[in-house]
Amino acid sequence: MPTPEPPPFLAGGGRATELILARDWTGHPLGLPDAWPEGLKVALSLVVNSPESMILCWGPELHFFFNETYIPLLGPRVDWAMGSPFDEVWADALAQAHPIIAAAMAGQSQRFNDLPWKLATDRGQADTWWTFSYSRILGPDGAIAGLFIFTNETTNKVLADAALKDSNEQLRLVIEGAKDHAIFTVDPAGHITTWSAGAQAIFGWTAQEALGQSVALVFTPQDVADGAHVRELTLAARTGHAHDERWHITKSGRRVFMNGSVHPLPDDTDGQPRGFIKIARDDTVRQEAAAARAQEVERQRLSLQQMPGFVGILSGPEHRYEYVNDAYVAISGERDFLGRTVREVFPELAGQGFYELLDQVYATGTAYTARAMPLHLDNRTASEADRFIDFVYEPIRDASGAVSGVFAGGYDVTDQVRAQRQLAEANLGLEQRVDATVRHLMAAEEALRQAQKMEAVGQLTGGLAHDFNNLLGGITSSLELVQRHIAQGRIADVDRYVVAAQGAARRAAALTHRLLAFSRRQTLDPKIVDVNLLVAGLEDLVRRTVGPSIEVTVVGSASLWPTLVDAPQLESALLNLCINARDAMPDGGRITIETANRWLDGQAAKTLTMAEGQYISLSVTDTGTGMTPEVMARAFEPFFTTKPLGQGTGLGLSMIYGFAQQSGGQVRIYSEVGAGTTVSIYLARSTASAEPAELPALETVGRASVGETVLLVEDEPTIRMAVTDELGELGYTVLEASDGKTALRALQSGAHIDLLLTDVGLPGGMNGRQIADAARTALPGLKVLFITGYAENAMIGDGQLEPGMAVLTKPFSLEELGIRIREMLS
Ligand code: ADP
Ligand code: MG
Repeated sequence: MPTPEPPPFLAGGGRATELILARDWTGHPLGLPDAWPEGLKVALSLVVNSPESMILCWGPELHFFFNETYIPLLGPRVDWAMGSPFDEVWADALAQAHPIIAAAMAGQSQRFNDLPWKLATDRGQADTWWTFSYSRILGPDGAIAGLFIFTNETTNKVLADAALKDSNEQLRLVIEGAKDHAIFTVDPAGHITTWSAGAQAIFGWTAQEALGQSVALVFTPQDVADGAHVRELTLAARTGHAHDERWHITKSGRRVFMNGSVHPLPDDTDGQPRGFIKIARDDTVRQEAAAARAQEVERQRLSLQQMPGFVGILSGPEHRYEYVNDAYVAISGERDFLGRTVREVFPELAGQGFYELLDQVYATGTAYTARAMPLHLDNRTASEADRFIDFVYEPIRDASGAVSGVFAGGYDVTDQVRAQRQLAEANLGLEQRVDATVRHLMAAEEALRQAQKMEAVGQLTGGLAHDFNNLLGGITSSLELVQRHIAQGRIADVDRYVVAAQGAARRAAALTHRLLAFSRRQTLDPKIVDVNLLVAGLEDLVRRTVGPSIEVTVVGSASLWPTLVDAPQLESALLNLCINARDAMPDGGRITIETANRWLDGQAAKTLTMAEGQYISLSVTDTGTGMTPEVMARAFEPFFTTKPLGQGTGLGLSMIYGFAQQSGGQVRIYSEVGAGTTVSIYLARSTASAEPAELPALETVGRASVGETVLLVEDEPTIRMAVTDELGELGYTVLEASDGKTALRALQSGAHIDLLLTDVGLPGGMNGRQIADAARTALPGLKVLFITGYAENAMIGDGQLEPGMAVLTKPFSLEELGIRIREMLS
């Protein structure tokens, strides 16, 4: 249909004008457009020319006009709505429209925003929303000519708003629900503007506390000092995103590891930056686990790196180094390992078997273990050319189980190998040396036996010196008397003194003989021995050894069986037993040496844990301290001694034990603490008869006669005689005593005594000092002259003697003695 030329008032109306022209206005209550009233034309011109969506309703039936902008709002009505009555066009909305129209007609012009209408639309019956205003148009007569409606459908905006509101709510729920995420926003200056429940849960600050604070709040002081919190925002602003993974800090000061990112918020409608949103997850647990894992891995790496054994990891069939630890480098020297093959790194190993072993382990997937494999490296000096290593080549498999490399680990055992070799060599030599050692040992044993004997000799010397002095005293005194008698022409008496001197000299000789016999080095030489004779021969030596404060009794069994034994050894044993007995009796006592035949039947043998049979026993019994069970249990142990250093060697009993065993006998101890000890040596009976003793029996010397009032206490008869005679010569009456007991009897007899002349070392339990004390109790102020040997000064408290007491040291001359007594008595 050709479009007619529009009337001037419709010019510029576009599609709306076209629709007006397209309508056939013939018979329309408004008539043809040219004839329309001036008001309608003006108003219509305004409407169709407006870019705003507008409607004009004209006349009593409110014929409907609209402009081009309005067209889309008409939906299915568009083809016929132009010029049609309002009620027809909006038939489906009349109930809602009429009150509004009525109000407008009444002059109450109103504006409605987003008012919902249920209308037919292109998409059918639908909820629509409109923003509009109705205003009346009055004619020249003041009557209502029409309605002007300014309108816009806002359905999309309303729906969008609703949707937005909805999504905002969803978003809020998401944000608030994300309790394990801290979500917050900051303004461009970094002040917190929103704070999610998750942020509160993680960081501890409530929204109230956090809002308005600087984002520095949640950063560690170090990061803040470092400016990390600002850098993060700057980066986000520049690049649109900043990843943030770091330790943050909570209100309570706890550290939390947050993993998240910062994004700039969209600018606001004015194009002003709104700030940033930060979304971060609390990864503390994972981070700590990762840190612990990393630490563990590092620890393992370090321990691997520093372990004493060497470790290398080789990959691929050509064995490329992936890893070597310190020990590996220490053995092989600094080399360029990583990424290079074993053949490149160790060219000198060619021909030593290592490459081939690696190839084999790689190819077969079977581990190989080597012991003390020699290793020759070029970096070694000549002396180190030989090194030995223990190692294992262990295949390394990938995830699919295929061999992908070789683990090489082991130890440098060079030192052990060398030590073993030396040991092996030494072992060879050892066998040859054992013979020599045995010989040495035997010699040493012999030397020890001798040393032990010499120890006994040493123990003897003290006592012997005393004895020799006594004997010498006897000899010199006799000689002195002989000389004086000859000078006086009293030849008749001389013989007595010569005999006495000879006796003393023979006893001294016998003593020396015995001592030499004893100390002489002798090899073990068992002979048939009469132990009674042996004891008798030693008795004097024993007596002199143990000193005068110990009484020695010998009880020899009559018809003692002979025994096969090394005599010097048995003597040595006997002396040692006597020395032990002496040591156990520091205040004196009694030693009984006893021999006996013993026929051990089953029971007796069992008690003694010896074989049944016939034995002789040699026992030494003392009245000393005895032994505790502990001491007794250990007494035979070599070097066991309870004596002070220098006095005991702990060898006496152990030697006796060994000797007895060697001689087919035994040693047994019976001891009671406080009562004394018996040590018995058992020796098997021999059926042969004894050989004669080597030594002559010793002769006893006669007594001297009586003189003036001096009480003489002296156990050595020769001296006693010489002194008695000398004092007699000088006009003294002499009372003689050989020991303390006799001396006390003389003191208590009521006899007048002017002076006590006493030896200090005396037998029978009382020494000279004790006799002097007893004498002074009976006779206060009694003059006392002590005669002392070498070591007896201690006994009389030398240097602090009471008044009226004096000391004369042996050996002395008779003349000297006379002068001293004279001095003391005048
Ligand atoms: P020594 O005499 O050098 O100590 P012995 O082997 O002769 O070594 O004696 C070992 C120990 O046995 C002595 O130190 C002492 O304790 C104890 N003993 C030996 N004989 C006696 C004894 N007659 N009375 C008490 N104890 C003794
Ligand atoms: Mg001893």
